Amino acid sequence: MPELPEVETVCRGLAPVLEGTRIIGARVNRPDLRRPFPERMAERLNGRTVLRLHRRSKYILADLDSPETLLIHLGMSGRLLVSGDPLGTFVHDHPSPERHDHVVLDLENGARITYNDPRRFGAMDLISTATADSHPLLCDLGPEPLGNRFNDDHLAAAFKGRRAPVKAVLLDQRIVAGLGNIYVCEALFRAGISPKRRSAAISRRRVAGLVQAIRAVLVDAIAAGGSSLRDFRHADGELGYFQHRFDVYGRAGAACGRPGCQGHVRRIVQSGRSSFYCPRCQR
Ligand SMILES: [Zn+2]
Repeated sequence: MPELPEVETVCRGLAPVLEGTRIIGARVNRPDLRRPFPERMAERLNGRTVLRLHRRSKYILADLDSPETLLIHLGMSGRLLVSGDPLGTFVHDHPSPERHDHVVLDLENGARITYNDPRRFGAMDLISTATADSHPLLCDLGPEPLGNRFNDDHLAAAFKGRRAPVKAVLLDQRIVAGLGNIYVCEALFRAGISPKRRSAAISRRRVAGLVQAIRAVLVDAIAAGGSSLRDFRHADGELGYFQHRFDVYGRAGAACGRPGCQGHVRRIVQSGRSSFYCPRCQR
């Protein structure tokens, strides 16, 4: 399931292909994903130029030269593929249409963007650019973890009086936007904080360390995604899914990688989801 760094990587990979380019052929091959597509979506996309591509939480936002923004969420299994030869760098042939190619955008620069999603948990919408922040999917989101509004004061205030384990609070999208299971596990490992730790019991000093750890795991993963973009022209044109080595996530039973720690990574289930951590050095 794509998390913030994967979505950021998709955005960075798409931006040079999409920004400043006109959509000359939009095709929508079915009425819905998780929710119905907006009315006349193909018609509203056709002939529009993409002015800017950006990300909010796990949503990709493409501002058009109409007063609308195309919102894309990849859900569990959504993929965006680039084919054609827009910049003389991408060498993929237009792939033959596949069963799960739900939306296809042909661009004036010769590129084709294909949205493929076998499980259809993704979403697309066309929303007013001016009021995008108040869209139901976006209006309750907390600050971006890499932005200035996410800081020690913000997280300390969110933890104050909360008996819930720190893992649950960090997954709450109203407190910080875009963090998912994988990067919360990784950030708690780096900060040396147990995922079971009661939020209110974390000292101010450790909250500051956690903010830095969250930023660091995301920055590292985005850097890994950037490397994958440099290779993707040699692969199949798919953006955003890259191999990244995790310290604890998915590594139950492995020796802890922290220098001097003799512990082993343990998997527990919290609120129905796996948490991976080292019981020796995460307190
Ligand atoms: Zn350890």
